[in-house]
Amino acid sequence: MSKAKWHYDFNIISHRGVFPVTKNLSYHKKLEDLPILIQRDGGFTCWYCKKELKDQYIYEHLNNNRQDNRIENLVLACQSCNIKKITDFDMQIRARDKLKENEDGNFVREIKPEVKMPTSEIDINMSNSEITRQYLEEVINTDGSIPFSDALNSCAFLCKDKTGHGSQQAIRNYIQMLTSSVAPFMVILDEKKKKIIVKRSGK
Ligand SMILES: [Zn+2]
Repeated sequence: MSKAKWHYDFNIISHRGVFPVTKNLSYHKKLEDLPILIQRDGGFTCWYCKKELKDQYIYEHLNNNRQDNRIENLVLACQSCNIKKITDFDMQIRARDKLKENEDGNFVREIKPEVKMPTSEIDINMSNSEITRQYLEEVINTDGSIPFSDALNSCAFLCKDKTGHGSQQAIRNYIQMLTSSVAPFMVILDEKKKKIIVKRSGK
């Protein structure tokens, strides 16, 4: 197989913003897909090396076709795995199997209908991420910011209270997602070098 057949995914997101090299996977769809990918694949991590993702991550196309933006064809990946995959046969195989697994699974179809009472784990996670988002929104709109640890504890309590579930690790993942570079909030250090969450300017 010629090397030219493989495409890099250049949908790289960084502090400097989104580089829209491809228009195919829209900003809006990325935002919509992000929580679903995090839930489906078990965290805000690179699907290939399982490392936790930070500022830079890529919506990686499992079949290397960047026009194929079905959520089944997407995983989150770190930049180095995205590049490594181009020449790594094992990773290609894993990606192909993962695509098949996603196509056979019902993840997406289960999530899409309106969420009523939390019945499955996915529903619970979706409600919890919404509770976390609303809480951050409310407090930050009123107070301008919220200490990170306070957000973590309050959201864990609220989620547990409302859905019966809310581990600190899960809440930490939601907060990470809500403060990622495409999201409406960000984490900064205050004058005492404590982590606080504020609204991302321009959002
Ligand atoms: Zn990786």
